[in-house]
Amino acid sequence: RFVNIAIDGPAGAGKSTVAKLLAEKLGYIYVDTGAMYRAVTLQALMDKIDMGDEKNLTRIAESVDLAFKVDETGNTRIFLNGFDVSQQIRTPEVSRNVSLVSRVPGVRRKMTRLQRELGAAGGVVMEGRDIGTQVLPEAEMKFFLTASVEERARRRHAELIQRGFAVSYAEVLEDIARRDEIDSHRALAPLKPASDAEIIDCTGMTAQQVVDTIAARVSG
Ligand code: C5P
Repeated sequence: RFVNIAIDGPAGAGKSTVAKLLAEKLGYIYVDTGAMYRAVTLQALMDKIDMGDEKNLTRIAESVDLAFKVDETGNTRIFLNGFDVSQQIRTPEVSRNVSLVSRVPGVRRKMTRLQRELGAAGGVVMEGRDIGTQVLPEAEMKFFLTASVEERARRRHAELIQRGFAVSYAEVLEDIARRDEIDSHRALAPLKPASDAEIIDCTGMTAQQVVDTIAARVSG
């Protein structure tokens, strides 16, 4: 029986790693909703749009073509207007600006609509900030992953270095603390656990331990 699994939480809690492994294990489709907000942000930066210009940010969100494709190695790639931007959406510049784009109601409305379409058939592990609360409130399984801000910054820093970005730990710590602050206090769909989500504190846990914890709930 296919169900939908919502995984939410702040930046660096390990959502992507866990959601990807879980989808593989269950044979589900993995959807990274943060990548969609990042792609809209990348387009806004390329078009030199002011990050306070809600009207133009909404127009961009409405006009971009976003698509996910799985490559031959099994990795999910994101395409913006036909171009693979999977690497470009991870730059520090996009990370610094994405929370300003994602707080715009018109942007959220469009992304939420697309995300609901992706979840319509079931069998999806969808990862983000508002999946359990707004995008798929009827999802059968909901998890909210947290970890201390220092641990989250350490993980995100290691990941960025591995991807070849020259950033310091202090910069990453500042970026995720600032993003969490904006994401948690925006008017529409702020970052918070759904009332029926299971909260998992991942501090000191490996990704595999978190996956096993969730998989046990799903099959149990
Ligand atoms: O998950 P990731 O860190 O890539 O998300 C980037 C940003 O996208 C978040 O900081 C947040 O501002 C926004 N986002 C959101 N709602 C989601 C997923 C991401 O607002 N469902």
